[in-house]
Amino acid sequence: MKLTTDRKQLHSWYLQNKRALPWRATKNPYLIWISEVMLQQTTVTAVIPFYEKFISRFPTVQSLAEARIEDVYEYWAGLGYYSRARNLHKAAQIIDNEHRGIFSPTYQELIKLPGFGPYTSRAVASLAYDQPVGVLDGNVIRILTRKYGLDLKWWENKQKEKLQIISDELAGTKDSADLNQAMMELGATICTPKKVMCLLCPWNKTCISYATDTIPQRPGPKPKQNFEIWSWNFKINTKKSQIYLTPNGATPFLKENWLPLSSAEKLTKKPKNYDFKHGVTKYDIYVTVETGSKSSDQKGKWVDLHQVSQINPTSLIKKIIQTIEKK
Ligand code: SF4
Repeated sequence: MKLTTDRKQLHSWYLQNKRALPWRATKNPYLIWISEVMLQQTTVTAVIPFYEKFISRFPTVQSLAEARIEDVYEYWAGLGYYSRARNLHKAAQIIDNEHRGIFSPTYQELIKLPGFGPYTSRAVASLAYDQPVGVLDGNVIRILTRKYGLDLKWWENKQKEKLQIISDELAGTKDSADLNQAMMELGATICTPKKVMCLLCPWNKTCISYATDTIPQRPGPKPKQNFEIWSWNFKINTKKSQIYLTPNGATPFLKENWLPLSSAEKLTKKPKNYDFKHGVTKYDIYVTVETGSKSSDQKGKWVDLHQVSQINPTSLIKKIIQTIEKK
């Protein structure tokens, strides 16, 4: 595939159209990393206030590493996916303690850190250190399959690898930081999932899907995941205004979340009795809450009820406490 012209068109479009975003004014890998993890949760506009608040509280990787996880959760609240906040904290501690606070400039090293998947490691290596590699996320998959008319099972690793190679070729120059950001910008503003604005696209003269009027069919839909049904029983141990919580090890989801002691099992059908239903990604969870337990374990601790949301900001613990109050 000859990409030189595509690269030039994309780059000059980006230089003329890029939005001024706080994380674009820096080459600081820590700030780029935080923004990239936040951008996986929601849109640019929604991320800006979260990003500004987070980096004013944790301005350096050292400050994040030294913070209590409860504080990190507090500044992450509203973004969801608390495992990402936990991984940010763990990775910051490794960078601070084992790498003297210095980020590796290559994605091959960054990817070894907790929470640094292929996208984040490539984004940080390219945007902060100009490593000539391309990023691949939902936006880039959409643009590349449309532009080059590719009908791929992009959710399968081997097929995704083909897109990764194209992305690497497109961004594989000294301008990789601009080119990767150009792809992100094009996906966010022009080649969007529904309201596609091809007339403003730098590639509209060569885009296969535009020329053949086949934009809506790319990228093809990922097959729906099979849902799993689980029952999850919590044994609530309380005293005065405190509740006993411990890191969850009972389920493959919400691992290490601070929750009451519990047991769980995978079911073949929905149970008859439960207190409430809770959904986590591909899991349908039927929750029962038993009060009056005296159980504890080695890892848990007593937490004041009004401080529970600081160590576990998920909606699950809120629902558990509401259920206790009704019983
Ligand atoms: S021409 Fe349209 S479909 Fe093709 S890459 Fe540009 S915005 Fe996307």
